[in-house]
Amino acid sequence: MSRTILVLADLRNGAVRNVTFEMLSTAKKLANGGAVIASIISNNSGSIKAEELAHHGADKVLVADSAALENYVPDAYASVLETMIKDVNPNLVLMAHSAIGRDLAPKVAARFGAGQVSDIIDVTEEGGNLVFTRPIYAGKAFTKNTVAGDLVLATVRPNNLPAGEADASRSAEVVNVSVDLPADSLRTFIKEVVKKSTGGVDLSEAKVIVSGGRGVKSEEGFKPLYELAEVLGAAVGASRGACDAGYCDYALQIGQTGKVVTPDLYFAVGISGAIQHLAGMSNSKVIVAINKDPEAPIFKVADYGIVGDLFDIVPILVEELKKV
Ligand code: FAD
Repeated sequence: MSRTILVLADLRNGAVRNVTFEMLSTAKKLANGGAVIASIISNNSGSIKAEELAHHGADKVLVADSAALENYVPDAYASVLETMIKDVNPNLVLMAHSAIGRDLAPKVAARFGAGQVSDIIDVTEEGGNLVFTRPIYAGKAFTKNTVAGDLVLATVRPNNLPAGEADASRSAEVVNVSVDLPADSLRTFIKEVVKKSTGGVDLSEAKVIVSGGRGVKSEEGFKPLYELAEVLGAAVGASRGACDAGYCDYALQIGQTGKVVTPDLYFAVGISGAIQHLAGMSNSKVIVAINKDPEAPIFKVADYGIVGDLFDIVPILVEELKKV
């Protein structure tokens, strides 16, 4: 069965985030000869390359460009996406399971009386139906769901679906969507945006993450972890234990109430491995744990474990990796 699939591009600072390519590649597979349509909702979207979206599978790119879309305003984004859905009549809408996607998908699904499934890590076709896989119980189990109806909206957890190879020979038709957002139709206004800068590599897209826990003991104790991250081109994360203790910013928190990450390589340094932390990182491809307690639960999920004092081990790793 062929399908029309609409993919909402996930943007940050004018750049397309990798999860967009993951969604486009998956959409291309599921479309079965139907259309894959990317959508850009933004202000000054000129810097966003429609070709990039085409190379990863988009046949058409819808662009809604307006100063009113500079920041995420729920009513504005929902109205624009609603217009796009009415225009192209998709069977499936994919968007990232980001702060925006989590808010926008149910809002728009409700407007159409459509089904919605959150935080999917896979979608396949079985017997003509789409089957969505999503983690439950903080990642301890997975459910497979089908959703009734002609339209389904799904949010996609980054770093789980293959982004596939870009095909530079592909091109896409670009269609501008007119944005009609009278001020009195919007119930929320952004007065000011205060950006928190965590510096370095974006945690939720990072391929390698070095995370510190309460074992790091102080803000100063994170220094060797930053050095390790620098050598590896990694992002720095943290357990809630470390955030609560004031050793680092909450923007770094990974886990059930923090960010969910799935890097290729995850270092858990001075982290005990509480279930709430595992909920955010246990799907990492390779986990390395450094802990002085050989009984720490983190070793149960680790692929490689180093028992010892992190303040001895991390500097050795940094020195050795510098030689590579
Ligand atoms: P600890 O459990 O104190 O572990 C510190 C570890 O460091 C120990 O294993 C110790 O052996 C080791 N260590 C100490 N010194 C050294 C050293 N010198 N060298 C090597 N190892 C050393 N937690 C999260 O992380 N993310 C969440 O999103 C989250 N959400 C939560 C939501 C709820 C509703 C609740 C109730 C809790 C949540 N927690 C979360 C908290 C979680 O239960 C744990 O308390 C927290 O993860 C513990 O952090 P930690 O592993 O850094 O600290």
